[in-house]
Amino acid sequence: VPADIAPLLAERGAAAREFAVEGAAMLAAAQQDPAAIKRRMPQFLGTLNRLEQVRADLRRALTHGIDDAVARSAFKVRRNRLHVLIGGTAMLAVLLLLVIWMRQTVIRPILAIAERLRQFNAGQDERADVPGADRPDELGELARGLAEYRRAMQERRRAERRVAFLAHHDVMTGLPNRLLFEERLAHELARSARTGDTVAVFAIDLDDFKAINDRFGHAGGDRALKRAAQLLRDAARGDDLVARLGGDEFAIIQAAAQQPRAAEALLQRIFAALAETAKEEITLRMSVGIAVSGPDQDFEELYNLADMAMYRAKSEGRNTARFFDDRLKEEVRLRWRLGRDLDGAIDRGEMRLLFQPIADAHTLATTGYEALLRWSHPELGEIAPDVFVPLAEASGDIAAIGRWVADSAMAHIARVDPSLSIALNLSPIQFREPALAGYLLATARRHGIAPERLEFEVTESATLLGHNSEAVLATLRELQARGARVVMDDFGTGYSSLGNLREFRFDKLKVDRSFVMSMADHAPSASIVRSVIALGRSLGIPVVAEGVETEAQLAMLRQWACDEVQGYLIGRPAPLPLAHVVAA
Ligand code: C2E
Ligand code: CA
Ligand code: CA
Repeated sequence: VPADIAPLLAERGAAAREFAVEGAAMLAAAQQDPAAIKRRMPQFLGTLNRLEQVRADLRRALTHGIDDAVARSAFKVRRNRLHVLIGGTAMLAVLLLLVIWMRQTVIRPILAIAERLRQFNAGQDERADVPGADRPDELGELARGLAEYRRAMQERRRAERRVAFLAHHDVMTGLPNRLLFEERLAHELARSARTGDTVAVFAIDLDDFKAINDRFGHAGGDRALKRAAQLLRDAARGDDLVARLGGDEFAIIQAAAQQPRAAEALLQRIFAALAETAKEEITLRMSVGIAVSGPDQDFEELYNLADMAMYRAKSEGRNTARFFDDRLKEEVRLRWRLGRDLDGAIDRGEMRLLFQPIADAHTLATTGYEALLRWSHPELGEIAPDVFVPLAEASGDIAAIGRWVADSAMAHIARVDPSLSIALNLSPIQFREPALAGYLLATARRHGIAPERLEFEVTESATLLGHNSEAVLATLRELQARGARVVMDDFGTGYSSLGNLREFRFDKLKVDRSFVMSMADHAPSASIVRSVIALGRSLGIPVVAEGVETEAQLAMLRQWACDEVQGYLIGRPAPLPLAHVVAA
């Protein structure tokens, strides 16, 4: 019981007792004397009043106490709420700090790592470190693991890039290769249809590359190719493509609005740079063919046109350039037609053989004949072998033609004096047939001709320096072993005439007619002819001079002790003279 209520309770007890006592006394008095009630009433009312008063006080005190308690408890509630609020705020603050801390120490680094990986994936900034790799904790572990993964990926990418590069580039010069060249050419042609540009293709071939290889060795050849690559790259503009197509063949793609002016400018830069190489260890010279695209140009065709122009430049004296123009187009058309018509020319009887005498230089007695092929085209007339033999070589027809020449020449020679020999020209392409020697010897046997009467003329450069020179030499040795003679034709025009003499023991050297024909008015030619004769003498190999047209030439050759002569002076190629036909 609260302290202020207790006295009131006691007071109320006392008042209640007083009232009860007074009431009982009044009742007892009233039983004896009813009038006593009236007398005692004020006193009784007094006690009642007091009781009422005390009760009221008590009630007031109690309500007051209750109010008090209520007020007190409300204050407490308010205070508790404040505590909760403060506590909550504090906790939130801690949480916030925790989050900030987490962000700083955990999430940020992870995000940084993720960002770096994303950059790496996108191929940017591949060399940058993975952040956090030096941390000692788990994040450091993560960063290091990812760095390792990235290194592995980088290696793989590098390998992939290398493979892609190798597939599209030439290793030695670093230039794009044929594959990339073709892709780019097709692309440039498709693009030029939209942009209105014209595409020029340069087909480029090093001149006398074989001679460079012979003189400077393989390493020198490689140096020359690298130098050529650098020279072309320097001459070309940034968006031109310089490619190495293989061997000593290069090509350039040049797309420009102003053609052929741009091509001419590039050509000038190339030849100016080539002239500079005269001061270097290896002087470079190039033959260049250029073709400029027309509408709806096929990339293969465009390159072929440039290539044809290049061959033309080469045959026109090397270290020159030639555009594919209308004249060349006409020639190409003609060549294409001849190539087509060549097929079956033998069966149609359009081929025949002429025979040119070869004579002893002193007595001028005929020692034999060289068989020379002629083609009478039904519409175009006589076609020179210089024109159609290369076509037959390119198409492969030369194999069948060569067999026909051998058969027909031997059939003819079988009818003349058995002391006379027959000389046949063999194309390098014919040596691709492994059974060539066997065929030639069997044909001779069939016609009853001793192998000793056979001479086979091969051109040195094409035959002995070709890629299958071993097979060629094997065939020549087989022919030689059976008694036939092997003649080196066009001696002096090849790349390494003397080198060939070391490779193979020829039975005769034929000085090229270009030297013989210019002997009189060109001192170096005369020296060459003279030295070849001396060389043959010292090696014990007979020398024959072809293209002898004048008495003066014959006199010189005789003076130098040339063994045999051949040329218009002695006799033109003609049907076999009947004078020699053995009387049956
Ligand atoms: P080649 O083997 O050097 O033949 C000699 C060429 O010089 C022949 O030309 C001949 O007619 C020509 N000639 C001969 N004497 C003189 C002369 O005094 N003055 C001039 N200006 N020329 C002379 P042709 O018959 O036009 O043959 C050219 C080339 O065609 C030959 O050169 C040979 O490489 C090739 N050829 C000819 N017939 C055959 C053949 O049956 N098979 C092969 N594979 N090639 C052949
Ligand atoms: Ca010949
Ligand atoms: Ca010749």
